[in-house]
Amino acid sequence: MSAKLQWIQDELQNLKESGLYNQIRTLSSPQGAWLVVDGQRVLNFCSNNYLGLANHPRIVEAARKAAAEYGVGPAAVRTIAGTMDLHLKLEERLAAFKGVEAAITFQSGFNANIGCIPALVGKGDVIFSDELNHASIIDGSRLSRAQIVRYAHCDAQDLKRALQENRTKFNRALVITDGVFSMDGDVAPLDEIYAVTQEFDTILMVDDAHGEGVLGKGGRGIVDHYGLHGKVEVEMGTLSKAFGVVGGIVSGDPLIVEWLHQRGRPFLFSSAMTVPDVAACLAAVDILEESTELVDKLWQNTRYFKEEMRNLGFDTGLSTTPITPVMLGEASLAQEFSRELFKAGVFGMSIGFPTVPRGKARIRVMISAAHEQDDLDQGLAAFASVGRQLGVIA
Ligand SMILES: *Cc1c(COP(=O)(O)O)cnc(C)c1O
Repeated sequence: MSAKLQWIQDELQNLKESGLYNQIRTLSSPQGAWLVVDGQRVLNFCSNNYLGLANHPRIVEAARKAAAEYGVGPAAVRTIAGTMDLHLKLEERLAAFKGVEAAITFQSGFNANIGCIPALVGKGDVIFSDELNHASIIDGSRLSRAQIVRYAHCDAQDLKRALQENRTKFNRALVITDGVFSMDGDVAPLDEIYAVTQEFDTILMVDDAHGEGVLGKGGRGIVDHYGLHGKVEVEMGTLSKAFGVVGGIVSGDPLIVEWLHQRGRPFLFSSAMTVPDVAACLAAVDILEESTELVDKLWQNTRYFKEEMRNLGFDTGLSTTPITPVMLGEASLAQEFSRELFKAGVFGMSIGFPTVPRGKARIRVMISAAHEQDDLDQGLAAFASVGRQLGVIA
């Protein structure tokens, strides 16, 4: 090791000593209710595969067929020679699914945020951002060079105060919130936020990464959940979670989409989504439009698991969605809990600082429509026994 890199060694050692080092497990099976992780068959409580689409036979087949017809790679950025009819078809279908006029895809949700935000605001402008917004919103906001004003989490009154104090000092303004907050599973009061923004000249943007395929009618997302169609200027989302594939999306007014074709930097300077990804996403839209069965099962599983966890005496925080944080406090306890769960055949990852605040470490359980009742019961039994063993529950 070069002496110039000693500082990295020291930092890594610090992370390990404070229980914050990422131990990355290796999967050797498809995503689903059960996984093979580091050679062991375990119940999957970790992934964002809300509807079980990541390994759905129709989606796998659609990807296979498209690869046979179109090959695999787009071979260029969208603006040069990377836009295929498949990309345009997916964007049309996604816009129709969400009930908006237009949509644009990116390679990931992260790219959608870092592409969209700097295209909408810049120097001399202002962003009002929920204090718990996702890292990709924070990075996109910093890249924009607009002034960032944080408001208290999910607090429309504090947003109003921030707007009153700051709005007139800047040119353009953007209010951004996560729809569903990924670590706590609580839902932004988008109706109240919308009402507040009406009194000020500002664009409203929501990151629906954990809402698509989950909230709203048949998984149409947070705007549908609140009945705010046509009122939220920018809906950003991901195809990497409930859709089961990978990709990002921005939908809304056709003018915004046209502008992102010109100014969305990851759109302009990074290659398009691959052919199998696009075809797989198209099949996912088909499945979601045909039936609400998977979304209904997701919610049924969610209600059952949460209620049983609370009956066992666990603190599942403020979540009102399938994201179920099991609050444990210290990162070291959360890591130990996760290791013991794994020994009991349950894969539930501990999450600590900086992903969540210090002292608020947890196991985050992700419920899926892929789980059967038996699976959930096995998971609950493992939580009960590890919880007692470590003195978390009586
Ligand atoms: C996961 C997530 C993203 C990023 O999506 P990817 O498609 O995985 O890049 C963006 N915003 C939020 C709120 C997320 O939870």
